[in-house]
Amino acid sequence: MTKSKVNRIILCIIDDVRASQFFHLINKGLLPNFKSLMENGIYSKNCVTDFPAITYPTQVSIITGTYTGDYRTEQCHGIPLSNWMGRDYNPPLIRNYGSTKLEIYKMNEDMGRGCQTLCEMIPEGNKTSITQFINRGVDYFFPNRKIKLIFYYLLINYHKNIKTIIKYVNNVVVHKLLENFRRPTKFFETNEAPICSLIWFLTSDVLMHRYGNSNFLYKLNLLHIDRVIGKLIEGLRELGYLEDTAIAITADHGNYKANRVGNLDNINKILGLSNYHYRRNINGNMNISEFGGLGFFYFKPKNLDGKNSWNYPSIEELQKFGPKKINLFDKLFKIEGTKLMYYKDKSNTYQKGRIFLKRKVGKEDYINGRIEYRGIGKEMQTRYIFENNNKKDVFGYYKNNRASKYLNGRFHSIEECLEATNHLDFPLYPDLLCRHFKNPRSADIILSTEGVIIYNIQHGIRKSNSLYSHDIGARKSSIVPLIISGSNEIPKKEIAFCKITDIVPTLLKLLGSNSAENIIGKSLI
Ligand SMILES: [Zn+2]
Repeated sequence: MTKSKVNRIILCIIDDVRASQFFHLINKGLLPNFKSLMENGIYSKNCVTDFPAITYPTQVSIITGTYTGDYRTEQCHGIPLSNWMGRDYNPPLIRNYGSTKLEIYKMNEDMGRGCQTLCEMIPEGNKTSITQFINRGVDYFFPNRKIKLIFYYLLINYHKNIKTIIKYVNNVVVHKLLENFRRPTKFFETNEAPICSLIWFLTSDVLMHRYGNSNFLYKLNLLHIDRVIGKLIEGLRELGYLEDTAIAITADHGNYKANRVGNLDNINKILGLSNYHYRRNINGNMNISEFGGLGFFYFKPKNLDGKNSWNYPSIEELQKFGPKKINLFDKLFKIEGTKLMYYKDKSNTYQKGRIFLKRKVGKEDYINGRIEYRGIGKEMQTRYIFENNNKKDVFGYYKNNRASKYLNGRFHSIEECLEATNHLDFPLYPDLLCRHFKNPRSADIILSTEGVIIYNIQHGIRKSNSLYSHDIGARKSSIVPLIISGSNEIPKKEIAFCKITDIVPTLLKLLGSNSAENIIGKSLI
């Protein structure tokens, strides 16, 4: 095997950037450093993120090159959402990675051993993470103490001069990383520059949720991130590392603006249910773990053994649920703005199962469909089936010639699904939904308003009045930019479409490593 000239890789995630907006700013000449990276490497304007388009799990999928699934048995990761409920605990585990309890530190453990991070896949050399919390296998991590993290968190969220702070936080990322290259012995046991570096710019997400993506500050921040990336490139060149380093730039998800923030205050009364709350000791029978434009509903079935355990309800039970014996598949559509519903069959296993889909098209009129899956990991296949809807399907693929060929009732691989749907709304959804529902930590019923109304709920509680979010399947939310550049050894080419799990195998290939065989993504080279 000929040795590749790329000896180091840097994986940079800029939080909350739409592909279309990013490349538009490049075309206008506003991101000169990203432009130069793009022109001298591989890039794609059409990289499909995970379901749901939420910070975690999408970043975990990027860094592990795999998706979620049944993490107990499959090669996959265990993070279905940023807010989820673990039913294998009594009382159930309530997870919120954004909480001030710093549960973000639990993510490396929650991911499970069915996956490896990019750093774990590289056996030798120093590995570092600057502000990236998905970092199992690193030798150095900044912020290295929890107290520093709390300081950063407070700084970003509460400091009066936001412009100064975002500049400071962006600068720290690159400054610290260059320090790792400049003085390795200060951070590592050996005097060797890091072979693998993970970095995360989170300022873009903070600003997007606060002001939206057309706001001046949001755009200005992207210009600033371009500038600090310029400093990184310059620093690597001065130190003599640029020629043997591959730098990947991507985002975890895009974004959208809702028309209105909805109100769910009456929902419990209407359904006759109460939201479980672990601190207030409310022993509820429902938990809305998160609801932006996508709502994730967990239901507690009847207690047959008298214990407080949240088992998995059957479809029959959800059809006459709770003290009012309501049919949740009808009643949940009464939540304002609800257009789509997804739910799983209780008898599903990690090897085989069915996901049911409903789209509301009139007052009492629905398009129904289902996805069936078989197989595990990268061998999983799906088929997407109509249910007598005048040839219309839930995701609207029927309108598109290329995608409609995929709707032939046969089983297809993830690559075939990507090929058929990468250019549409709900890209790769049939495959991604099955993987999501395989995770035992997934919800029972998922709703979508398609972003018209958002609720900003976390574990039953409304958290903000922001109109800006990023969870839905529309392209503005689901398509992210990708550039892999740096060393002249990297080919110059545009990739028409790809998926976020292709980034890790591409970087490993550049590094000359063949340890990517079990992951779902494939090399773009
Ligand atoms: Zn994010």
